[in-house]
Amino acid sequence: MNDGDVEHSGNETTATAEGTTRREFLKVLGVAGAGAAAAACGPPDTGDKLIPYLIPPDDIVPGTSVSYATLLTGAGPEPLAIHAQVRDGRVIKLEGNPSRPTGGALSALAHSSLQDLYDPDRVPGPRQRTANGLVDATWEDGIAAAGAAVAGGSTVLLTPPAVGSAARFYQEWAAAVGATWMPWEPLGLEALRTAHGIAFGIDAIPTYEINSSDHIVCFGADFLGTWLAPVEMGARFAAARMPGHGVQARFSFVGPRLSLSGLKADEWIPARAGTEVLVALALAREIASRKADGRAARVESVLDPFTLDSVAEAAGIEAEKLRRLADQVATAKAPIALPPGIAAQGPVATDMHLAVILLNYVCGAIGSTVKFDGETVRPRHVPFAAIADLGRRMSAGEIQTLIVAGVNPAYATPASLGFAEALSKVPNVISLSPHADETTSAAGWILPSHHELESWGDGLLSRDYMALAQPVMQPVFDTRQREDILLQIATAAGAADSFQAADYSGYLQGVWRELHDRLPAGAPGFDDWWYQALADGGVSLAVPPVTDVAPPLTAAAANYSFRATAAPADFSLITYPTVQFYDGRGANRPWMQEFPDAVTKAVWNAWVELHPETAGPLGVETGDLVQVRTEAGSVTAPAYVYRGIRPDTLAVPLGQGHAAYGRTAAGRGFNALDLLDGTPDQRSGALAYAGAAATLTATGQRGKLVIMQGSDVDLGREIAELINIDDVPDAMEHEIDLTTLVEAAYDSDPRSPYRWGMAIDLNACTGCGACVTACYSENNLPVVGEDLCDQGREMSWLQIMRYYEDTEEGFQAVHFPTLCQQCGDAPCEPVCPVYAAYHTPEGLNGQVYNRCVGTRYCANNCPYKVRRFNWFTYERPYPLNLQLNPDVTVRSKGVMEKCTFCVQRINRAKLDAKDEGRLVADGEIQTACMQSCPTQAITFGNLKDPASRVSRMAKGARGYRMLDELNTRPAVTYLKSVTHAAMPESEHGHGGDSEHGD
Ligand code: SF4
Repeated sequence: MNDGDVEHSGNETTATAEGTTRREFLKVLGVAGAGAAAAACGPPDTGDKLIPYLIPPDDIVPGTSVSYATLLTGAGPEPLAIHAQVRDGRVIKLEGNPSRPTGGALSALAHSSLQDLYDPDRVPGPRQRTANGLVDATWEDGIAAAGAAVAGGSTVLLTPPAVGSAARFYQEWAAAVGATWMPWEPLGLEALRTAHGIAFGIDAIPTYEINSSDHIVCFGADFLGTWLAPVEMGARFAAARMPGHGVQARFSFVGPRLSLSGLKADEWIPARAGTEVLVALALAREIASRKADGRAARVESVLDPFTLDSVAEAAGIEAEKLRRLADQVATAKAPIALPPGIAAQGPVATDMHLAVILLNYVCGAIGSTVKFDGETVRPRHVPFAAIADLGRRMSAGEIQTLIVAGVNPAYATPASLGFAEALSKVPNVISLSPHADETTSAAGWILPSHHELESWGDGLLSRDYMALAQPVMQPVFDTRQREDILLQIATAAGAADSFQAADYSGYLQGVWRELHDRLPAGAPGFDDWWYQALADGGVSLAVPPVTDVAPPLTAAAANYSFRATAAPADFSLITYPTVQFYDGRGANRPWMQEFPDAVTKAVWNAWVELHPETAGPLGVETGDLVQVRTEAGSVTAPAYVYRGIRPDTLAVPLGQGHAAYGRTAAGRGFNALDLLDGTPDQRSGALAYAGAAATLTATGQRGKLVIMQGSDVDLGREIAELINIDDVPDAMEHEIDLTTLVEAAYDSDPRSPYRWGMAIDLNACTGCGACVTACYSENNLPVVGEDLCDQGREMSWLQIMRYYEDTEEGFQAVHFPTLCQQCGDAPCEPVCPVYAAYHTPEGLNGQVYNRCVGTRYCANNCPYKVRRFNWFTYERPYPLNLQLNPDVTVRSKGVMEKCTFCVQRINRAKLDAKDEGRLVADGEIQTACMQSCPTQAITFGNLKDPASRVSRMAKGARGYRMLDELNTRPAVTYLKSVTHAAMPESEHGHGGDSEHGD
């Protein structure tokens, strides 16, 4: 999006500003089509032949998508098994691999990997830096130069943490050429790993089975958004929070700021930044004193100083609140404590993790809801401190050659560390990054590697499942597989003999042959087994059963000397990753820039969060420019006034750009890391993202912060409903009568067997936005940019509204997915002068683009404000246009559009059913949003089938319809969100009071 320093762009490879030329399209279509076909049964055809479809390949039906199983490792904190939908050689959509436990679910960031693949700012081929800047170069020259540099010694290879065979490959490569391999993840788990080493003497990341818990106490981890495994944890969280399926787990959040995860909590314990460690220890002490068992006796002395009252004072919270939490945890059957994550990772990060481990230990959660499987599937990586040390060695001239592949240390380390300057002291900086980024901008050579979707790979998803990654299309640009580039560099450096395989796909197959050799007699031959693994996306591994799920506590932990941080005089600063940008990797993806942040609902910028009590005396309102200053630096950015943050705390998101309103290579806004001094936690070497002392100044100027939600509350219109768990009506008392929806002639044709409808469970929705991005991807939604968003001209068919509902002691968020309600008596339809808005026999509100003349009467008459008008013809610069879904019309200027429940998927299923002489079965159609949702908050189906899941949910006790009093008869039923928090007297019984006819 920004040109940056690298002198190439989408325009360089684009023949016309409007998009791809026919010649370019045919290049990708012909070559990639053959490649995608080959990808299902082996390495892609690397020939550059244009192959017309006069005689199409056997497994390709023109106009029909083919699904290829592969693996995504670079889309956030967890590796994800996916299905890539490939049409005519182009990947057009990503979905979760339905054979895995998380089903078709994916995160928003994972969906946007498509825009990473088709990013116009990718480096299109080898580049060499000369006195005239970066110029085109040949692969031969680049490999030769890199080989000579590596042969010169003192080489460091910096990569992301490698899962599966890549880790072995990098180790062997480094050994062969005499280099040092440093796998690094900026938002890593080093503090958690170190704490478990101290506690149990093991190098492991446990599994947090929150789905089996009845009380979740989170000490800061954004486990539903950005920490550890949000897609998997989202599913576990939903399972724990389903009323009617046993007891809904209670959820308490401890920390100075409510994150995406924190907004779902029943209770907020707003402990001062850095004191979460004390709260965990005080809770552990209190519970240990009540249990008085062997575990309690073991940790008695280490917990003794941390009384509830003294800790409450230090943490700035009411002792009564803490005492009540201790009561609840002590009486819970299966409590679980979740660690600090990134946003609470301060200068004593290891201590904080260890305190949470001790709490889990005394609660009996270790081995019960927190399980160790003996070996971790999470790849190891060096801590931040090692990267800081690398920077020092680079500055001292000790590093001759730095090969950077897939990480961006010049951006992802605090500016105070001086990594960007240190790069200039390294004689040979070679970037294998596929993208132009801050580190690439300092490289002497850029040898761009393939995108993950163009690459081979593998990785452990669980201890008993090895996933396989395969190229799902031919490379978009003149790039090579990262490991192949390294092999070629090794050859040029004279280390060819160290590797038997000619390329990485051969190397990978060699490793998998070893796996195959371990299969019992009678197993299929390698070729059959390999092709089946490619088709399935991986193989199950025979592993011994887990025996040691609860390792004993070490003496070191039982006698640990805990450290706490002193509260700063002015403000504590928190920097935190977001679901849209994570560590910054999402900043060049338009879908992510236009996806409203889950907490603030802001787009296209970064901001500073401050409490109303902080903003008031300064006269600051949301959007006013404020300056935050720390010892390391300062930023000036728009304020966001947020009631979910302590008055003595400021928070800024990570992942945007460097300078105000313009990252040097991608993204916009500012880089929050500029505010950190880079001091690591002494025990683990982890970077302290939280706890820096900061000051705040109002500049008196107005900035620009586009917020995509008008009001934080529903103004008493009962749009988003939150009820106390005791007010959930009896399951037999159905609130909604579906009769009119399925029988009234206007709602749907009585002769049609279908009346499509949807149920959305607000209790399950976490606001993660995966559904929103899936909708953009499936339905070719355009991105309009900051200015048009500001004018209310966004094009999103599905928006997640975040409403605050007051509880007796605070507030709780209800995330409210808003989309076309497919009304039975739709106000949009009768006002259209040309019948573009019409009612289908199956009850959908159809929209005939070709008829629409753009009067916008329909949008004016829609009470839900879910119709979107194309004020312009929005362009997608090449190769972003290759992502477009051919099943969905690309709309142009002057046309109204909106959600139609993915009618293209409905029609496909109906055609399949018709071919087979049957009706569409329940669950056969998944809308894109439903498929993507990690918590299964969305259910779609046929309301005329009384046994369908959507019918049963729509008639369920918590069901209600938005603005039902308007008698629009929506086909979307919302299920009320449920809380353990006491509701104000006036709110009691919303779930079953007279207004809704219970
Ligand atoms: S409905 Fe959408 S925002 Fe809500 S949990 Fe599901 S995917 Fe996330």
